[in-house]
Amino acid sequence: MQINQDKCINCKKCVPYCPMECMNPGEKSVQIDLEECVECGICLRNSNCPVNAIEQTFLTMPRAVRKAFSDPFGKHENIEVKHMGRGTEEIKTNDVTGIIHTLDEAAVAIELGRPGVGARFRDMEKITKAVAKFDIVYEKNNPVTPYIIDKKTGEIEPEILNEKIMSGIVEFRAKINDLAEILKAVKSVEDKVETVFTVAVICKVDENNKPSAEDVIVNNGFNIRAASSKTNMGLGRPLYEDRIKGAK
Ligand code: SF4
Ligand code: SF4
Repeated sequence: MQINQDKCINCKKCVPYCPMECMNPGEKSVQIDLEECVECGICLRNSNCPVNAIEQTFLTMPRAVRKAFSDPFGKHENIEVKHMGRGTEEIKTNDVTGIIHTLDEAAVAIELGRPGVGARFRDMEKITKAVAKFDIVYEKNNPVTPYIIDKKTGEIEPEILNEKIMSGIVEFRAKINDLAEILKAVKSVEDKVETVFTVAVICKVDENNKPSAEDVIVNNGFNIRAASSKTNMGLGRPLYEDRIKGAK
């Protein structure tokens, strides 16, 4: 993103719209701190600049990754993912996708940078490296996954490590038996990660309506009742059952 310095009349109308607070008013015009800008496009779409001074620049890699993850209209041009945005619905809408369909597996979704703080891939790599020793399967439709170039070490494509995005989600499946150690491994790097992040655990409930991961989470000191949670009501069950049937 850029502000055309010849057009800008320094009205400062755009400044409060930037979620990264990287539009800096100067004496004659506003300037964007490109190191902090995540290319979300909010300033361009919403601030209604009176002289159309805000301009989207043509982005190439690695900077293009910022727009792909931060702008709802950004596309992942360099990787084969089916949708736009920062994450995937695959695990969140598990009642449709059926990715987690046994009690001995759980999915973990670690979201960095949200709300409104932003995250760099180098911080994401601290997490992927911390969980690399476990037997995990990364979600193939998540746009972060193709950038984890070595799944055994958790190494992320070096070219994008310094790129900042609005938010991104590391998503993988794991055995419930490994979950306690995985949560500990994530916690062990929390002080090194220079942004905010949340950890979601997605699992099935058993015949007594008890989440299969509940004991692991509670026994490791997390207050499950204080955490926010989301329950899928099973409205997608017909699709889920077809998919499981097809897999047999
Ligand atoms: S709204 Fe437009 S003219 Fe006003 S400060 Fe921002 S870029 Fe400059
Ligand atoms: S594109 Fe987004 S992050 Fe960049 S200056 Fe505009 S509002 Fe701020």
